[in-house]
Amino acid sequence: MRKRYIISHNSIFIKHTGVTLSFKSDIRQRVEYVCNRCNKSRILFIAPSLQSDKVASHGYIEYVDVHYCLNDKLNAIKLFVDKNYAVRSQVSIKTSSSSDESSFNEIAGLNIPLPKKAEFINQKIESTRDYGAYNLKKLDIKDKLRERIYQIGGEGEGTEVEVKSTLNFIEIKATIEESISRENVEGWLKNLANMLESVVSLDETLLQYLGTYLDHMILDKHTEKELLELDLLLHSTVAIPHSTLSHINIFDDHVNELFPELSVVSFRMYKSIMHACLNNEQKTIIDISDEVKDKHISIQALPYFISILGQLVSFGFINIEKLEFYTI
Ligand SMILES: [Zn+2]
Repeated sequence: MRKRYIISHNSIFIKHTGVTLSFKSDIRQRVEYVCNRCNKSRILFIAPSLQSDKVASHGYIEYVDVHYCLNDKLNAIKLFVDKNYAVRSQVSIKTSSSSDESSFNEIAGLNIPLPKKAEFINQKIESTRDYGAYNLKKLDIKDKLRERIYQIGGEGEGTEVEVKSTLNFIEIKATIEESISRENVEGWLKNLANMLESVVSLDETLLQYLGTYLDHMILDKHTEKELLELDLLLHSTVAIPHSTLSHINIFDDHVNELFPELSVVSFRMYKSIMHACLNNEQKTIIDISDEVKDKHISIQALPYFISILGQLVSFGFINIEKLEFYTI
């Protein structure tokens, strides 16, 4: 389901499943630039809370914008954005299936040192304690957009599965338990690769949940609901969930028909999450999860929180405002 964004004078209205949500754009900052290859003006609305500590420590933050560029070909542009939301530099990232390394073309250089050639940094991801490596022994994610090779898992032996994202910016190599269906795993990993390719800003701390999540999930073929969960997980430090009083009222009126099996405990959890998202402008999925965690002992693990949130999102009771670029 695609969200439709209509930009008017002061506000953006998100139309989604027939219910309109609005937030004032003066709460959002704009990151705006003109692509030097295709001359399109691209814009990102961002909550000030998302311009993280990274800007403070590095002086800038990196965002990736994948868009239909010159000759209608999808292209990735890496942007270096300073604390005033100004794009200081844009770099076009090229990749081809034949060449192993992506190449970097500096287009508009300012005083930020840019790599002339992709230099990959190996980064070992410490998974959460409940990662058992039962089905997923090992996962290497080569990310050409962020010049990282993320390594999840360990030494276990098994079958190797390799996939690439649509634009070849993400390559994933997994070692899996021999008895599991290769086709199911390929489906999961292909979706994961494409999601990672479209993330504007990837928070590496999220990857600690990835191995744990996939270890259980890859046994079966993915469902739409599970892909939504994976997407929410990967965006959970940059996506902002919203709810309104009318959403909550609709939920109250229809809860018995929609969720006939819902226990009292689950009902309270659903309501807590919606209330935490009520008129929310700044808090990310992770922030909401932390807030709700304090009230409900049963929602301690992020993936569990995400699965409940996914349920509410798929019914339209919560709208997710992702960090996305638009052409204006
Ligand atoms: Zn372009």
